[in-house]
Parts: sequence; C-alpha cells; structure tokens
Amino acid sequence: MTHHITHHLPEPMLADYAAGRLGHAFSVAVAAHVSLCDECRARLAAHEAAGGAVLETLPPEPVSDDLMARVMARLDDPAAAPPEPPAPSGIFPGPVMAALKGRPPRWRSLGMGIRQSLLHAGKDGSLRLLYIPPGRAVPDHGHEGRELTLVLQGAFHDETGHFGVGDIEVADASLEHTPVADEGTPCICLAATDAPLRFRALVPRLLQPIFRI
Ligand SMILES: [Zn+2]
Repeated sequence: MTHHITHHLPEPMLADYAAGRLGHAFSVAVAAHVSLCDECRARLAAHEAAGGAVLETLPPEPVSDDLMARVMARLDDPAAAPPEPPAPSGIFPGPVMAALKGRPPRWRSLGMGIRQSLLHAGKDGSLRLLYIPPGRAVPDHGHEGRELTLVLQGAFHDETGHFGVGDIEVADASLEHTPVADEGTPCICLAATDAPLRFRALVPRLLQPIFRI
C-alpha cells in the first residue's frame, strides 16, 4: 500500500469526529481513512491533544507552529500508538473489518457488474462497500446530504480528480459526479452518507418531474 494519499479529511470533520459528533457511518469512514493516513492521524491527534471541546469553540485558524511541532514529534515517536492501527493483513483496514463484524462482504448486484454490500443503514446515515469493475462507471446515485467515499482497492476518477487507495472524497448533495474505476484492478470503496436511506428513494422521485423535463 504505497500509494501517496492526496485527498484528505476536512478539518471540521476531524473536529467533529474527535468530539464524537459523527454518526456511525461517517465515524467508520473517518476512522478507516485515519488508519491509512499519517497526515490525518497527526491532525486528529492535535484535536485530541487539545481536548476537542476547546478547539470546537474557537473559530477555525491555522494550527500553531508549536502544536504542529509537538504533533510531528509524536508522529516520530514509535511509542505513540495511532488511534486506529492499520490492519496487519487482509484487504480492509481495521475499522472496516469491525463494521463487517468479521464476516466477508455480502455482495448484491446493482447491475452492470457493480455490487454493493450494505454494512449499516440508520437514521444517522448508511455505510456500504461498493465494487466497481475496471473501467466501469457508477451511474448517478443521487446522494442526499454529504457522502464520504474511501478507496480500499484500485482507484477511480471523476470530475473532481483521481482517487487511489486511502484517498477519501467528500461530496455534498450539490456535487454531480460520475466515478469511473481505473483500468486493471476492480475498485472497492467504502461509501458513507449522513442522510437516511429513505431520502435516497423519496427525494429523487419527487424532484424528477421538476428537474428532468
Ligand atoms: Zn488524510
């Protein structure tokens, strides 16, 4: 897993995670990215070291040199354990394996060779694994609310950029994107939304006659 991660978590989401304000689906996606990403692990450690509650009451501002120095020192300290250690072996990071409860994914076909395995569906959002064959596009899936997509295997690209293993895409409801898996290896992603599933069916059905004339 030598891909250099270039797509990271936004600061407010790390703060929300540190303060325990994220729902289950987002929490698993954030934890899985952090387990793969030294940079976000250091930024999360800064939130936790500062006590979360203090940071969240302050307006966003750059991390001080002193705090960053301490964070980097901690990164270099082999005794400082990361909050979510990378999975020692296997396909998926520890937080994903935990969400699978030790069972293999139960893939269901979405058509065109694309498969999904639903890991969680609740009022706080949904969590799923997506399997996309090489070169295949994911049809518009009309997510409501925000959506996090973390690459676990292979890579995909869309209108906003290229995403390899460990990269995480943060999309809000306004983003119209068509992810396409790279050629070669099937792409497996962890996708989390913070909107209940019922909206995913109801809202597009109501809006379709208005916006698709
Ligand atoms: Zn990161």
